[in-house]
Amino acid sequence: MAEVNMEQLLNCALCPNMCRCDCPVLQALGREKVAPAGKARFAAMYKQNHLELDSEVIEAIANCLGCRGCTVRCPFPELNLCDELLFARTPDKEGRQGHLASWEPYLANLKKYSSPYGQKSFAGGRADRGADILYFNGCTALANHPQSLAAVEKLFQKAGVSYQLINEDCCGYPAETWGDPELARSLAAENYRKFVESGAKILVTSCPECWLVFTERYSGWGFGLPLEIMAAPSYFLGLVNDGLLKPSAIGQRTLSYHDPCIWARSAKITQEPRQLLKSIPGVNIKEPLAAGEQTHCCGGGRMFQLSFPKTAEAIARRRLAEFPSGAAIVTACPFCREGLSQDNQTVLDLLELLAESCTK
Ligand code: SF4
Ligand code: SF4
Repeated sequence: MAEVNMEQLLNCALCPNMCRCDCPVLQALGREKVAPAGKARFAAMYKQNHLELDSEVIEAIANCLGCRGCTVRCPFPELNLCDELLFARTPDKEGRQGHLASWEPYLANLKKYSSPYGQKSFAGGRADRGADILYFNGCTALANHPQSLAAVEKLFQKAGVSYQLINEDCCGYPAETWGDPELARSLAAENYRKFVESGAKILVTSCPECWLVFTERYSGWGFGLPLEIMAAPSYFLGLVNDGLLKPSAIGQRTLSYHDPCIWARSAKITQEPRQLLKSIPGVNIKEPLAAGEQTHCCGGGRMFQLSFPKTAEAIARRRLAEFPSGAAIVTACPFCREGLSQDNQTVLDLLELLAESCTK
């Protein structure tokens, strides 16, 4: 995790900055030091010992949502800048580490409760032991939208699919984000143990950040998962296509789907949520200004709503202005749902909508 590709970092530091319109943090704050290339310059200079990691530098480097918006127009296809910047948060051989005070309470919660939000409201274990499907809700949805789990359980039950729930530990993504790789690995180890003990064959999650860490991090941390990992929109679309779920009309509705960054750019899941919405009779879809893989982040990536709440709010407001008037916003990520719910804006959850439509 602390390895750095200096060539890529310098490419970015010296680049003409084609991505400046696609970085939501730069757009919201308007300060060059938080532009992708600005962060890369700080990171490269620090790595070459030309710069101390003081609070200004770490704050600039940490001002990254992990949204990969900067990849859309980037001339360097190998560059994954948000991951390259992670090293500054991770202790190096000399123990130097960029760390923000705002991360402390959440790290303390993670250590005590295995959730950044504190005591978990649901301890799991309510379903069929031995079932092939294991569902992982993620701590953000459990903490902020506990009804989302009931909706997913309703979908499994309507489809006649046996499923398991476990007492989830946080997936480890927030701990990595807040610079504690050991904690991230210990949370991953607990989840790995529970996944293996369950005997399930398919792990379904509706949280894009959990999906990302399961698919991109666990094996590097020594916990290669012996299960197929599926994004919930793809999994539930399969049940609709197989005729196991039969959505019925919930009235005429005009909806606009917000693509969560990770689903769209990392998992390449852009059509599945739209197909799910279209499977509900009476639904009409209107696209927002930036859609699909070119989506703009809601401000919720990499735990931004907890680390930088004011900036997250400003980013969400910019994104909300890109939706067509008269259309209700739907998304498929607990962070997007939370972030876009500004000023009494209602944001619908894709699976809750599907569950509402599955009455038979
Ligand atoms: S992210 Fe890509 S486009 Fe943006 S400054 Fe870096 S190298 Fe250039
Ligand atoms: S990942 Fe997103 S927030 Fe981070 S530098 Fe790229 S565009 Fe900006």
